[in-house]
Formats: sequence, structure tokens, C-alpha cells
Amino acid sequence: MTTLPKPARSLRPTLDTLFHIDYDWWSKGDRDLRVYLRSHLCAEHRALIDDAGSNLDMIDWVDPRTAEVKRRDGLVQLMRNHCSQRPDYIAEHTSIVDAVFRIFLVNDNEPLTARQLADRIERDPEIVLKTLAGKQVYQGLRPV
Ligand SMILES: [Zn+2]
Repeated sequence: MTTLPKPARSLRPTLDTLFHIDYDWWSKGDRDLRVYLRSHLCAEHRALIDDAGSNLDMIDWVDPRTAEVKRRDGLVQLMRNHCSQRPDYIAEHTSIVDAVFRIFLVNDNEPLTARQLADRIERDPEIVLKTLAGKQVYQGLRPV
């Protein structure tokens, strides 16, 4: 039995390929974005929200730079204002997938390359690329 050669991948991501969180990926299947989002809160806020037994809903938020009113997720807003300001938001023990996700959560999901991401999370760009560009999609992190 012969095996056929694998077709060449024409769009193989490189260090300069832009990645982002693909929220469509989250809307498929049984994936629970809210639960995953909560895992990125600081311990203090995670406890608070667990106690309240509820999720924060969408809130209106005024962009201080443009004065534009945006619909924003309450959890994400909390992360921007508080949790992401803490030194352990992205720590040495944070996995690459979680660290990258946390970057996109607080930068409005503005696409970044593996090189830029590696710089922000202080990891090796090649390893960041390998993690994000593999066959398996982690937490919706995909090329743009
Ligand atoms: Zn917090």
C-alpha cells in the first residue's frame, strides 16, 4: 500500500502572520467562552463573581480616546481595568495559549504576529508560532 504525499500547505503561517481570537470558533459546538473568560480573572474577582453566581453581561463603555460608545463584555472590561494590571496576569507559569489569549482580551483583539506576541509575553517566537499554527486550534486562537 502506498501513501500519497501530503498536499503542500500554501498558507503556512510564519512569524509575521497575524493572529487573533476567532470568536466564531467559540460559537460552534459546546464551547463555553464565559467559563474560559472567568478563568482569566484575578483570584479576587473570580471569587466575587462565583459568589454572585452570575456572569457580567454586556455593558456600554465609552472609549476615553474617541468618546465612542461601545458594547463591551463586562468580564473583559473588568480584566482591562483591574486583573490585567496585576503583575501575575501573565506570569512565568502561564501557558502560552492562556498568555496569548489574555493579550488579545485586553487589546480589543487587535491582530498581532507571533513575533509581537512573543515579545509581549516574553517567550520564544518560534514556540509561540508552533503553538498557534498547529493543526489543533487552541481557544479560538487562529490566523486572521
Ligand atoms: Zn481583578
